[in-house]
Amino acid sequence: MKNLQFNHQNLLLSFVLGVIALVINLYPVPFFANVQFILGNSLTVIVAILCGPWYALITSLLASTGLMLIWDSYHVFVIFSLEAVFLGFCRRRDIYALYGSFIFWAIIGMPLFYLMANIFFDLPAEHLSFVTLKQAINSLIYTSLASLLILMLPKLWFFETKIKDKQRRTLSKQMAYFITLMITLSLLFSALYFNFISLNKQQSLIKKNQQETVFHLSSAGEQYINMHTKVIKNAAQFFTLVNNTSADQQPLLSNLHNNYPGFISMLITDDKAKMIAASPITRFKDINSSNHLSVKDRDYFIEAFYNQKTFISSVFVGRGFGNDAIIAISAPYFNKDTPLQPAGVIEGSLDLKYFSAIDYDFNKHNNQSVILTDEANNIIYASDELNLKVMSPFKYSIHNGYYVTDLQLMNLQSTQSNIPEYIYATRELNNGWKIYVIEPFSPLLKLAERQMLSSFIILLSALLISFFISNRISQLLTVTLEMVANHFEKLNQHDLNTQVFDDNSPKEVYSLYQRLVTSKQELILHQLALEETVALRTLELEKANTKLQELVDKDPLTNLYNRRFAEHKFNEIREFCLRSEQAITVAILDLDFFKAINDSYGHLAGDECLRQVSELLSQHFKRDIDILARYGGEEFILILPMTNALNIEHHLNEFRVKLASTKINSPNAAKQFNVTVSIGAITANANYHAQLDKWIKIADDNLYQAKAQGRNRVHVSIINPQSEP
Ligand code: GH3
Ligand code: MG
Ligand code: MG
Repeated sequence: MKNLQFNHQNLLLSFVLGVIALVINLYPVPFFANVQFILGNSLTVIVAILCGPWYALITSLLASTGLMLIWDSYHVFVIFSLEAVFLGFCRRRDIYALYGSFIFWAIIGMPLFYLMANIFFDLPAEHLSFVTLKQAINSLIYTSLASLLILMLPKLWFFETKIKDKQRRTLSKQMAYFITLMITLSLLFSALYFNFISLNKQQSLIKKNQQETVFHLSSAGEQYINMHTKVIKNAAQFFTLVNNTSADQQPLLSNLHNNYPGFISMLITDDKAKMIAASPITRFKDINSSNHLSVKDRDYFIEAFYNQKTFISSVFVGRGFGNDAIIAISAPYFNKDTPLQPAGVIEGSLDLKYFSAIDYDFNKHNNQSVILTDEANNIIYASDELNLKVMSPFKYSIHNGYYVTDLQLMNLQSTQSNIPEYIYATRELNNGWKIYVIEPFSPLLKLAERQMLSSFIILLSALLISFFISNRISQLLTVTLEMVANHFEKLNQHDLNTQVFDDNSPKEVYSLYQRLVTSKQELILHQLALEETVALRTLELEKANTKLQELVDKDPLTNLYNRRFAEHKFNEIREFCLRSEQAITVAILDLDFFKAINDSYGHLAGDECLRQVSELLSQHFKRDIDILARYGGEEFILILPMTNALNIEHHLNEFRVKLASTKINSPNAAKQFNVTVSIGAITANANYHAQLDKWIKIADDNLYQAKAQGRNRVHVSIINPQSEP
């Protein structure tokens, strides 16, 4: 249900495009006969692609209204709405519109259209498959047009609420679609264009052919009548000139008739309208026996005898001579001595069946038929295949339906139908008769249908081929690109020089590859340089760290360790000595009367003194494991591991003596002085106590005693573990 909530922007778009589609559909492109191509539905397809099925339905209903107005058939609403919704759902499933259109027309569209056309259209059966096929092709055209429009108008790509692809499509799928689109459009357009040209040519050929036929037939007909009229006229003159007896006239007439078999019969009368000669002679005898020789009531006698002119009768059906249409031609003849008074009439009944002969001559090579009517629109002659009754009125309807053709169309059988039956051409003879040359319309329709079917088949095969081609093309790209990707994935520095491409790889991919190789090489160089810099920096940092540590651990004035370091280090040293049950000596040194040194030589000299004492300490206690630290002011602490208890007092005394005899240089070099030190110490096994304070307490006590006893002396307590409480 959520899907049915309409978005305003989409709704507006589908309405606007629907109205435009309606207008476009009012002006279809005429193709052949009543076949037209509609283009407005492109907009329905666009809406289906951009907004989905339900918006497309709106556009489609509007577009179909346009078609409804020109075609007057409700089927358009059914078929095109279904198509629009179908395409919309295809879009939701990531199926390209053109593929959707193919599927729709193959499975639903064509069968449904055929069925509906069968029920609702007034169309001959052979026309049905044609219009069905045409509608499918028409749909492919407007769908491709719509897809192309969407591809070409980038704005549509950024359409805000447009349906988006659920999955990224592969290059080969995209390529196949673009090629399909291209082929469908170009092939259909060119096929339809050439079909159109060829149908037009065919039509003008038919038209020209018919006009030629009608011209030849009419002039042949005119000639036929003129010639026979002349024969009668000449015969009358001849009889006037020779002035022979009635006994001579019979053989002359028979002879004349022999020469002109177009006459069904001939006769000669005297001035009383009595037949004096006849051909064939049997006719004369027939009439003779029935004692009925007078023809004075006949038009041909009256007109020729009394009006003294050559007479051509209207057409009539000959009595006793089959059902052929006949005309009577008569002329008066005279006696030499009575030139103003006719001596009788000569008459020939011309059989118009003759037209079948010329009809046959002209038409044995095509399917044209001929109809000849007299001035009263009665049929004088009609080709046998038409089954028209001679001397009956010629009934037909001229086709002025919506067929777009410059051919003249008529219906003879179903005069009410708007499906044309015949193409015709007509001409009036100089005696007021009319000749019609007609041929059936359906072969033209068949031709158009065959052309459309072959276009469709060519399209399908072209599409099949295009699938293979586009796959091949995209492989050229994707396969090589994939090769590049794989190549760089497992690439190390040494592989860069190995070639992965053959000569067929596309130039673009090859240059991409080369650029990647170059940048990879640059990257590796850069990486090496970076590693070097990092190593250098690390070294510098380590140095700085060490310096910093020294700063933290050491006393800046004397460069000995500070009290904090000594206290911290004591635990480490004690742990170490515990394992080997070694003794540790902790000694506190305090310079004697240092205040006085400061007072007499100055603070800088005091500092210098502290430095030189430290220097001397470092020289005297020079084992790496000894910790020499400034304990504060003019006091020092020594932590001496692994000391020999027997030797330590002596060693400390050595230092005391060395210091006492050392001249200290004051910064103003002129003055020198001496300094002494008092030392309190403790030497005990490492397990004596874990707390340095305990050790210092003993050392301090000893220092106090050294001071108290007069300074410049050493007091050491050697603590025996056994004697510990
Ligand atoms: P005693 O023999 O009893 O140890 O006498 P003393 O003068 O050495 O002891 P006292 O503690 O009275 O004086 C110590 C003096 O050391 C006081 C202070 O001015 C001086 N002093 C402490 N630290 C420094 C230092 O870093 N530089 C200098 N120049 N003098 C210092
Ligand atoms: Mg002191
Ligand atoms: Mg002192």
